[in-house]
Amino acid sequence: MLVAFVFILGLFVGSFLNVVIYRLHRAESFVKGFSKCLFCGHRLFPQDLVPLFSFVFLKGKCRYCKTKISWQYFLVELATAIGFVLIFWKIFQTNELAIFQLANLSIFAHLIFWWIIFAFLLLIFVYDLKYYLILDKVSLPAIAFAFVVNLFFGFSWLNLLLAAAVGGGFFLLQFVLSNGKWIGGGDVRIGLLMGMILGWPQVLTALFLAYVLGGLFASGLLIFKKKHWGDKLPFGTFLTLATFIVLLYGETLINFYWSFWKW
Ligand SMILES: [Zn+2]
Repeated sequence: MLVAFVFILGLFVGSFLNVVIYRLHRAESFVKGFSKCLFCGHRLFPQDLVPLFSFVFLKGKCRYCKTKISWQYFLVELATAIGFVLIFWKIFQTNELAIFQLANLSIFAHLIFWWIIFAFLLLIFVYDLKYYLILDKVSLPAIAFAFVVNLFFGFSWLNLLLAAAVGGGFFLLQFVLSNGKWIGGGDVRIGLLMGMILGWPQVLTALFLAYVLGGLFASGLLIFKKKHWGDKLPFGTFLTLATFIVLLYGETLINFYWSFWKW
């Protein structure tokens, strides 16, 4: 029951994130204004804005002008809802808590913190995938937010700074060596962010995983001839995905990895 509530909450947050992505791109404020159809400008009413359902019932088209709406809207809503539920499960599993203990303030604070971090990561993920760009006005607040809250939750500042220096330095080195050709300055800031979110040594796990994911994906594209050697990949997408996976399942991954070496 509570999981259903979390899922629905995630849908609405996802719906909001879609608006944020759109308005960041258009450099509009995302607080004011009605929701409008992006094509005909018709004002959208609550029945046009129900997450997932409106998209399905309207068959992915605007009710008024019938223009096709991007799958992004549907997918971001669904992904946010799933992410929210996974985080909820993870936190309650590790703390072995019954639901009434939601009242436990520290647990509740962790839950909200992870949800916000997830929202930041998803924003970066989608934006980089769509526009090949990592916006400072998303990544910089996320870095500051993760640093402050992780300190509050008992990470040592030395650990976080070390992790951020390793994550950021790793990309800065590549940036300098390649004269900005391999990766962009945005990736350096994502490296910092990964360190601030995960701390040391999990930042290494996430970097490693990002390269594995990126490598698999790139090979897939090459095999199916969708891309060619030297084409640009939205690397921030893999970095944020890897960060989220390690945030949730970092320890499991490391144990899994070492279990291979024990053979
Ligand atoms: Zn329309």
